[in-house]
Amino acid sequence: MTKKAGSGLPSGEQAKPEATGHCPQCDKETVHRYRPFCSKRCADLDLHNWLQGNYAIPTEEEDSQVPEDAVRH
Ligand SMILES: [Zn+2]
Repeated sequence: MTKKAGSGLPSGEQAKPEATGHCPQCDKETVHRYRPFCSKRCADLDLHNWLQGNYAIPTEEEDSQVPEDAVRH
């Protein structure tokens, strides 16, 4: 029985996932402090956009809807 002397040591240390990406706003390098953005400005911009999108509630739904009851034959 040939047993290889191998210790159960994990090869290498765990690679830490660095915050290296690109800002979704301006495509600049991500800054860890403001990730996933590059700066507070971009973070604010995104938040602003997000809020705007959230507040944009379609209100012209009622106007364009034709009541089927009105169409009598
Ligand atoms: Zn940016």
